[in-house]
Amino acid sequence: MATSASIPGAEVLTLRARTAAERCGVQPGALSGSRPVFSPVNGLPMGGVEWSPEIEDAVARSRAAFLEWRRVPAPARGAVVKRLGALLTGHKSDLATLVSLEAGKITSEALGEVQEMIDVCDFAVGLSRQLYGHTMTSERPGHRLSETWHPLGVVGVISAFNFPVAVWSWNTALALVCGDTVIWKPSEKTPFTALAANALLRQALVEHGHPEYVAQLVLGDGELGEQLAGHPDVALVSATGSTRMGREVGPRVAQRFGRSLLELGGNNAAVITPSADLDLAVRGIVFSAAGTAGQRCTTMRRVIAHHSIIDELTDRLAAVYERLRVGDPTTDGTLVGPLIDASSSSAMSKALQEAQEQGGTVIAGGTRELENQAPEAHYRRPALVRLPEQTPIVYAETFAPILYLLPYDDFADAIAMNNAVPQGLSSSVFTREVAEAELFTSAEGSDCGIVNVNIGTSGAEIGGAFGGEKETGGGRESGSDAWRAYMRRATNTVNYSGELPLAQGVDFSV
Ligand code: NAD
Repeated sequence: MATSASIPGAEVLTLRARTAAERCGVQPGALSGSRPVFSPVNGLPMGGVEWSPEIEDAVARSRAAFLEWRRVPAPARGAVVKRLGALLTGHKSDLATLVSLEAGKITSEALGEVQEMIDVCDFAVGLSRQLYGHTMTSERPGHRLSETWHPLGVVGVISAFNFPVAVWSWNTALALVCGDTVIWKPSEKTPFTALAANALLRQALVEHGHPEYVAQLVLGDGELGEQLAGHPDVALVSATGSTRMGREVGPRVAQRFGRSLLELGGNNAAVITPSADLDLAVRGIVFSAAGTAGQRCTTMRRVIAHHSIIDELTDRLAAVYERLRVGDPTTDGTLVGPLIDASSSSAMSKALQEAQEQGGTVIAGGTRELENQAPEAHYRRPALVRLPEQTPIVYAETFAPILYLLPYDDFADAIAMNNAVPQGLSSSVFTREVAEAELFTSAEGSDCGIVNVNIGTSGAEIGGAFGGEKETGGGRESGSDAWRAYMRRATNTVNYSGELPLAQGVDFSV
């Protein structure tokens, strides 16, 4: 079994985190607060932050900044986002270091997360000149009918630990060019990364002569998130995290008729058909299931494989799982870093036990590793579990690297199994049959927001709208026309006729 060499101690990680954060413009004092910040790499504190006591002042400042920001022409707002993209490019390795140290991502994935931020900045800069509305034909003579898009106001962004900065950038780059101001409440597990990213944006704003309160950061836990969700002056709450969190945030925002954009839990499957290229399938499955130590919303949690190939597929996956290098995510060659904390590790153990009680067999992995070197950290070898059918355990999202292997006989059954879970984020089919690929991506196919053919369930590009259905929350972020969620639409009818004809031929002569 492959594990990587030694896990760095507290002093080494503290120094690395401080250096990276300070290079991004974070004041040293901000890293020494009373709330400890732990690294999952060794399970030890790297420093601390202070939490914001309440949200009221931040919302008032944000609202005041909005009144100015909405008057700045969209391409000029885009120029700020362009500068942010340039700063992110210059600090790519600093931010990636913080992502690895706080979220446990391997270096390549951490760099990929920052690249995604740069990509979405590019997208938003282009968008700043393309916030188009439609012009419609009017049924009345001498009338013009059109729609205009206007900024919403203050946007609250609540983000999860596993994409500590990319999700903020998806929301913030778009919200800023749309003319909104942003208040970000990141995960309480990843505040250093948030401080660094926010410092870079603050620099971009100040360099362009705009108030820094256009983009603010507030630190705290779910209680502060609740305050943000409940505040009547927060026009849109974009919340990424567990379905449990979404169940609290959604109704809270709806009660005050605010808008919410929810990006919640996933439970993603790949269907592997008899015609699939198994080499491709194995590579796609392993990246999606074991990458990021199973801690992506798009992580593959179920493989639904045709009964004629499931044994061969199981053997091939088991061989790769034994070889996966588990260890310090910042060391070259490591493919699987740590779980975020002890509670994730116990959730994994509990799910493995329940799966076995429900007739499952652990084919590979599941073991705890490197405990001698880092007793406070939680390194787990990704687990493969063979199940005879979809037993209750597969319906829940366990945020850890467990992949359930399930057999199917008929392609229609495979689609039904894909769709049977309450979540609806990502899905994929591996097939060389055009009819299967088309059916899977059709209205009778997968019911998820992301439906792939011959690639895994994770690793989306920013150009598409990202999000999922059912308990995943229904929100869409990032590319395509996701920007519309950050704006309000006005329908304008302009009468230049000198007459007052009424629509639908209504006569109201007085
Ligand atoms: P979490 O739900 O524990 O926390 C997410 C964020 O919500 C944190 O900032 C937290 O402080 C805040 N929060 C918690 N309770 C709240 C409340 N009552 N009101 C307001 N805010 C509250 O999630 P996590 O453990 O950080 O992340 C893992 C989860 O996030 C998984 O379920 C994963 O699938 C999901 N996720 C979804 C997406 C997506 O795009 N669909 C992306 C990343 C992560």
